[in-house]
Amino acid sequence: MAGEAYAIQTANNSSCGSKKGKENKKKKKKRGGSKKKMTVEQTLGLKSVREWVFSDQSGSFAAAASCVVDDFGVQKSLNGRRGDKLVFELHSHSKCSDGFLSPSKLVERAHGNGVKVLALTDHDTMSGVTEALDAACRFGMKIIPGVEISTIFSPRGESESEEPVHILAYYSSCGPASFDNLEKVLANIRDGRFIRAKIMVEKLHKLKLPIKWEQVCRIAGKGVAPGRLHVARAMVEAGHVENLKQAFARYLFDGGPAYSTGNEPLVEEAVKLICSTGGVAVLAHPWALKNPVAIVRRLKEAGLHGMEVYRSDGKLSVFSDLADSFGLLKIGGSDYHGRGGHGESELGSVNLPVLAQHDFLKVARPIWFGAIKNIIENFIDEPSDTNLASITRFARTPVLKGGSSLSCCKDIIDRCLSLWLTNEEIHSAEFEAIILKLSHMTFNSDDSSFL
Ligand SMILES: [Zn+2]
Ligand SMILES: [Zn+2]
Repeated sequence: MAGEAYAIQTANNSSCGSKKGKENKKKKKKRGGSKKKMTVEQTLGLKSVREWVFSDQSGSFAAAASCVVDDFGVQKSLNGRRGDKLVFELHSHSKCSDGFLSPSKLVERAHGNGVKVLALTDHDTMSGVTEALDAACRFGMKIIPGVEISTIFSPRGESESEEPVHILAYYSSCGPASFDNLEKVLANIRDGRFIRAKIMVEKLHKLKLPIKWEQVCRIAGKGVAPGRLHVARAMVEAGHVENLKQAFARYLFDGGPAYSTGNEPLVEEAVKLICSTGGVAVLAHPWALKNPVAIVRRLKEAGLHGMEVYRSDGKLSVFSDLADSFGLLKIGGSDYHGRGGHGESELGSVNLPVLAQHDFLKVARPIWFGAIKNIIENFIDEPSDTNLASITRFARTPVLKGGSSLSCCKDIIDRCLSLWLTNEEIHSAEFEAIILKLSHMTFNSDDSSFL
């Protein structure tokens, strides 16, 4: 306990984005200069995080005891090599939404930056997850399948106002339980994005800033729902603004002259949906909200698990305190898009303390375990192709796509489980029962679903 209290106390002194400058310099100097031996709590936390991160790579990790932490509870390696650190990047975008890199390029870049655990959190789609998992396999990295859901906060009182809210959802390697329920909502938002982008183009036309719809679609790329960033890029290309920042600051900001909303669900509905599909729900960038306290209060009631409080420039004390007062997890990520601008935070640049990583996994793992259990049990109850496809939704290799016999299905499930769960989880009493049921399933030659 003492270790965590110390980490919070010291990290609270870090700057809050707006107060960079002097304080940041001071912080950097301090970070570079001091190394502390880990507390017992941090050592145990790191051991548990490592067990999860390397659960599918036996024997490839060093002993946790050899690590030290800086003043902020962020792990440092003794010999200075970044490769020894467990860097978590929990917020990133690829070309599948409005990022600039393909999922595999994003994974490659993350690996180059020393990231060990990467959450791909594209806007309103999980279509990049399979490619990311495939690429991560080559680098020995772990991918957390994620999605950033666009939602709307609807006011209940006069002091509140409507505003867009982004909710991050983190799922197990197996993906969401009842994926179709989630996908229905995401598809509806994506459809709404086309309509919304069209309205924005029309509004710009009326503002005498014409851009071509075809150009917006070309920038977004084939099959990608266009967003504000794609409209902004078209504005830059047409010469209406000098850069993306100007496009947002003058025309596309929330409620701006060329802004439009789409088919976003109510924020509390999205949080409930994430909870019911075996995901961890986290409020993204609360510092961008007009009314964060009212929103956090409403979302806590709906089942929110955590909120972002860490950024590349440190922990934001005001949001950290807010998270504490509502008993929420405190995490963060770079929100990397690959735009290449000066102000953009680099992939893997957020220093998430080992206890924050540990707390996140402590909440996430039982939820993910439950989702995996649920998906496998569905297959045992009804061993259909559809239920097998749910297990292999994000399968890394074609070998895992579909089976030709029940024994093959069992092999697939065995392989998946060894990738997704730790030994401890597989051998837990709860899962042993499932393994037993699986071993008792018999192949019926009349069952054409496996032929
Ligand atoms: Zn966002
Ligand atoms: Zn984002």
